[in-house]
Amino acid sequence: MDFLRPTTWAEALAAKADRPEAVPLQGGTDVMVEINFAVRRPPALLDLTRVAELRAWSVADGVCRIGAGVPYRVVVEELGALAPGLAQAARTVGSPQIRNRGTVGGNLGAASPAGDSHPPLLAAEAVVEAESRDGGVRLIPAAGFYRGVKRSALRPDELIRAVRVPVAAGPQYFSKVGTRNAMVIAVCSFAIALDPARQRIGTGIGSAAPTPRRAEAAEELLARELDWDAAAPDASLVKRFGRLCAEAAAPIDDVRGTAAYRLHAVEIMARRTLTWAWSDHIGRRAA
Ligand SMILES: Cc1cc2nc3c(=O)[nH]c(=O)nc-3n(C[C@H](O)[C@H](O)[C@H](O)COP(=O)(O)OP(=O)(O)OC[C@H]3O[C@@H](n4cnc5c(N)ncnc54)[C@H](O)[C@@H]3O)c2cc1C
Repeated sequence: MDFLRPTTWAEALAAKADRPEAVPLQGGTDVMVEINFAVRRPPALLDLTRVAELRAWSVADGVCRIGAGVPYRVVVEELGALAPGLAQAARTVGSPQIRNRGTVGGNLGAASPAGDSHPPLLAAEAVVEAESRDGGVRLIPAAGFYRGVKRSALRPDELIRAVRVPVAAGPQYFSKVGTRNAMVIAVCSFAIALDPARQRIGTGIGSAAPTPRRAEAAEELLARELDWDAAAPDASLVKRFGRLCAEAAAPIDDVRGTAAYRLHAVEIMARRTLTWAWSDHIGRRAA
């Protein structure tokens, strides 16, 4: 197995263009497990850990740009105010060791339906910044990034450079059901993002369909019927929102849970996160 070690982004893109079969390596918390368990034996690994710019994040024009190599630890410690949904999700990933190595870029690269970054990225309308030497930069909205179980819209010669997350315009929440509190892959998960100025509510469902996905009909229901001046959203509207979120899911029975349980849990998480976020929204308005 060849081990390619670029030190700049240009070198990384050149290496991927010359060897599209090379598997990118960021924190290695997915890749190394797969190699150790002989799930795959790639002809080459493309180690991105020496490309310093991938470990940086920045804010400009209301968008937080998070380099593909920024570990969850940094998301938790530094991005709680800018991207609260993503920071909450990052807090639930693995253990301190995994959060120290694992990255949002790697979560996107793996594109697992159970990845914890995906629901908050969907809810916040994040955009994946992909790049190749010959094709240049391609901006892929999160909603169009996930293409199947562990399949994404990335092309063989492309690498993820960063993910662009709009700075939170209102309260955001992430909720995850697992068999215990730490070191657990989601049975299912849900994220919500409120944008009071645009009167928009974004959603993201995890681990309850072949890909992470939004609950579009549920978002449209709130866009039509939610009274943004109300002290609390109408109880029957909250129920219908929960039901539409469950209807957007397409779960399976597997070792972590049954499809029926996942549908129920998505409905409950949708209702709860909406209620929590609304309470914050009202609190901020009163402050
Ligand atoms: C013990 C343990 C617990 C875990 N718990 C959780 C959990 O709770 N929630 C969760 O979501 N995940 C969990 N994971 C999975 C893993 O930690 C995450 O998916 C993490 O985000 C992967 O990031 P990484 O940087 O380690 O990726 P890597 O393993 O380096 O890469 C992952 C995938 O992304 C590709 N890739 C990496 N960087 C790029 C790039 N720049 N461009 C294109 N493709 C790229 C790789 O080729 C590979 O296919 C756990 C893993 C372990 C071992």
